[in-house]
Amino acid sequence: MNAIHFDNSYARLPQRFFAHRPPAPVAAPRLIRLNIGLAEELGLDPAAPWGDIVAGNLVPAGASPIAMAYAGHQFGHFTPQLGDGRAVLLGEIVAPDGTRRDLQLKGSGRTEFSRGGDGRAALGPVLREYIVAEAMAALGIPTTRALAAVTTGEAVYRETAQPGAVLARVAASHIRVGTFQYFAARQDEEGLRLLADHAIARHYPQAAQAANPYRAFFQAVLARQASLVARWMHVGFIHGVMNTDNCAISGETIDYGPCAFLDEYEPAKVFSSIDHGGRYAFANQPRIVQWNLARLAECLLLLIDADIEIAIAQVKEDLAGFGALFEDAYAAGLRAKLGLATAAPGDLELAEDLLERMAENHADFTLTFRALCDAAESSANDAGVRERFTDPAAFDAWAIIWRERLSREPAWPRAATMRNANPAIIPRNHRIEAVIQAAVENDDFAPFHDLVEALATPYGPQPDGPNAWPPREEQRVSQTFCGT
Ligand code: AMP
Ligand code: MG
Repeated sequence: MNAIHFDNSYARLPQRFFAHRPPAPVAAPRLIRLNIGLAEELGLDPAAPWGDIVAGNLVPAGASPIAMAYAGHQFGHFTPQLGDGRAVLLGEIVAPDGTRRDLQLKGSGRTEFSRGGDGRAALGPVLREYIVAEAMAALGIPTTRALAAVTTGEAVYRETAQPGAVLARVAASHIRVGTFQYFAARQDEEGLRLLADHAIARHYPQAAQAANPYRAFFQAVLARQASLVARWMHVGFIHGVMNTDNCAISGETIDYGPCAFLDEYEPAKVFSSIDHGGRYAFANQPRIVQWNLARLAECLLLLIDADIEIAIAQVKEDLAGFGALFEDAYAAGLRAKLGLATAAPGDLELAEDLLERMAENHADFTLTFRALCDAAESSANDAGVRERFTDPAAFDAWAIIWRERLSREPAWPRAATMRNANPAIIPRNHRIEAVIQAAVENDDFAPFHDLVEALATPYGPQPDGPNAWPPREEQRVSQTFCGT
């Protein structure tokens, strides 16, 4: 086995940042899937004994397994200590191209931060995270990645006994807004400064050159989060549990729990069984990101300026800029979805008009936009869009305004470009459920592999098939669960 090239910079931070904790071995590891493309990208040997490594039965040389400390606001309520309760960071891999990535095992046993939990993960949520993280990556959206998944040969007990599993996850880092909150809650200014310096060096090195590096760092995180949440809105992704501990400083999507994609466009949609108030509803997501960033700002005040009033005025100004950053990114993505090469006043309203009509007519979010690519080629292709609307005339009325706008555009390969902004396939909830059911009940992983492979080329020419279809009425999934 070729050695994994580890360089564990987080484990070199002071002891109070984490707890040393090797993964707990399991009874009978069995590799479900190794993401060979990602392994190769990272310079990892696909022939290494991944089943044993991911299960925690073989700790590779050079690893320095730790459970990271963090805090977080969960549904608005602050807990000063959460931490990795069912995960360990094996270490940081430096890829052949020089990029540094965390390699984490999720479901790897109890740690100092487990509180009442068993430290384990059930197979269903592991498959869900694998599928959705890799689908997001294929869609071009910043995300943690799934490197591999194993079953453990042990049962975990949730409402019922479930097969246990472990996910090997790769991330730019696992530093969260909640990591900053952990040190802020302890008034540990030195810890905050070390953490901020570490995060700057790792994710925002240009901020170190700024007149005020910590403010520049905050502005850079804010810009990346604004862009990230706009990308979610362009594909109908609902994170489901946007607590501050699930908000990555790197700007990657992290912690896929009760996440889901919209079938029909419905801005107020909530799938998560634990989100009773609709805090993390689809359309609320930009506002919640901004709220999470305000919590980060609070942690950074001391570093930004010794005069707290000055620091507050500065982060307030930055937070006030979030709306415009988000709107610009959101409008740019909607323009691409509509096939607009240029920007003109009224574009956002044009897109919102379509979205409103889609909501009123229960139009499938993904398939409506995909069919719009064909309609952009010729109005003779309108049928594909019209059939998505309960009242097709609602589309016809909008299409007149859209085509008038298109007529003011220069000639360009519109439909082909639109297909790169409008996926043909997303991980639909009912397909994920079907995959999980086959794996859990029949030990059948073929549907899982099929779905992962279908999702790998969302924009490309796609064989049409059930993985891309919206649910029939009886297939509809109304609730998703953390279930970890
Ligand atoms: P998450 O659902 O990933 O946002 O997790 C919230 C917190 O609960 C984190 O501190 C997790 O480490 C912890 N947690 C979730 N599931 C378990 C489990 N099975 N055992 C121990 N800790 C857990
Ligand atoms: Mg989490």
